Amino acid sequence: MEHIVIIGNGIAGTTTARNIRKKSDARITIISGETDYFFSRTALMYIYMGHMKFEHTKPYEDWFWEKNKLELKKGWVKAIDFDSRKIALEVGETIQYDKLVIATGSISNKFNWPGQDLNGVQGLYSLQDLELMEANTKNTSHAVVVGGGLIGVEMVEMLHSRGIHVTFLVREKNFWDIVLPVEDGQLIERHIRKHGIDLRLGAELNEIIGNETGHASAVITTKGERIPCTFVGLTVGVSPNVDFLRSSSLKIEKGILVNDFLETNITDVYAVGDCAQIENPGQGRRAIEPVWYTGRIMGETLAQTLTGNRTVYNPGVWFNSAKFFDIEYQTYGIVSPQVAENEGDFYWEHPDGDKALHFRWTTTTGAIRGINAFGIRLRHEVFDRWISEGKTIDFVVDLLEQANFDPEFYRKYEQEIKEGYRLGSLKASSAT
Ligand SMILES: Cc1cc2nc3c(=O)[nH]c(=O)nc-3n(C[C@H](O)[C@H](O)[C@H](O)COP(=O)(O)OP(=O)(O)OC[C@H]3O[C@@H](n4cnc5c(N)ncnc54)[C@H](O)[C@@H]3O)c2cc1C
Repeated sequence: MEHIVIIGNGIAGTTTARNIRKKSDARITIISGETDYFFSRTALMYIYMGHMKFEHTKPYEDWFWEKNKLELKKGWVKAIDFDSRKIALEVGETIQYDKLVIATGSISNKFNWPGQDLNGVQGLYSLQDLELMEANTKNTSHAVVVGGGLIGVEMVEMLHSRGIHVTFLVREKNFWDIVLPVEDGQLIERHIRKHGIDLRLGAELNEIIGNETGHASAVITTKGERIPCTFVGLTVGVSPNVDFLRSSSLKIEKGILVNDFLETNITDVYAVGDCAQIENPGQGRRAIEPVWYTGRIMGETLAQTLTGNRTVYNPGVWFNSAKFFDIEYQTYGIVSPQVAENEGDFYWEHPDGDKALHFRWTTTTGAIRGINAFGIRLRHEVFDRWISEGKTIDFVVDLLEQANFDPEFYRKYEQEIKEGYRLGSLKASSAT
């Protein structure tokens, strides 16, 4: 019987396995060094904040795996011999495969800062990181978090929930300005500050100072400011977790290079999820998209190929969602930080400063390109459809009610948004 081995039990590896099983009786083994069972990485913060126990983050009951004949192996892979199709585990065991799926996710970045390996300094990616954070923050009253992406904001919120004073160092002048337009970033900035966080924009880490026991005691910024603290969170992005494969014949740049079918340069070896780098990403897409939904779509696609229906990976309309403290954020399609030359732009913000929608469209055709939503939940399938069908901005604004996914009793804002849009259009046409 064919043996498919999957390294990594995250969303990408697990989705691949589940979807192969729906169509095939192949022997499937999933290997992971992190945990026995698949869990939701995006829920890690809620364990620390006391909203969930680890058990609640597991999407499937423990009996699910045996019932579906998905063999689980706990252990770290240290090397793969692609010629003999053998996987070597750190514990000394070897596993033979016929087909191999690499789904090893990401690791947290570090940039060789002096002091980055002191006790009390860490990133946040794995369950082990969460356990370390639990231990590291036991007696902390002041923490510094470096790096203002989504994981950085989560770490700040986690620390804040325990009454720890947080200084948040963000290199960019405007919050997350490599992703968000300036209005959106400023809304989040204000919200973070409203929670009492000492957010410092345009601030970079220079070094972390340790005490005589080798524990972090302060950070020094590039401007020479000294911030005393006993915990330092480094959340300066992630990179594909592929270093253990670099000396092999597998083609790797930042991530494992895959073609449109998620196939690597080696026959019968595939890569999915955060560790995969698409050789020719579609227009407006990145070669590596380290988000949950990408891992899921890649897993579903690869399972088709591995069960006899060779299928091109189509990422669909870009979507991501997150939470900045109390503000839910969703993004659909393309909303770049700067407005492009042929692009229309409409930003609506509620006077309370906690809700906003940001629309972008192609000026020549009116076709909607993307939307950012803050504090208003939109229906995924509606915006996915409107963007892929090229509906016009006028159509979208007119039918906005259809896309609202807030519970019935929530106050709705469509009328204000429509008025704002019409006023903006009138101004624009009288100016031309
Ligand atoms: C704190 C946090 C919050 C996040 N929030 C969001 C969010 O709100 N929305 C969103 O879209 N995305 C979010 N992400 C990103 C998202 O979680 C990842 O994109 C996704 O989990 C990646 O899935 P994956 O299956 O590719 O890899 P992973 O989930 O990383 O799984 C890979 C697994 O492989 C194991 N592994 C790696 N190397 C080896 C080896 N050599 N031997 C054995 N096992 C190995 C790893 O230990 C890991 O268990 C968040 C990430 C973090 C860390």
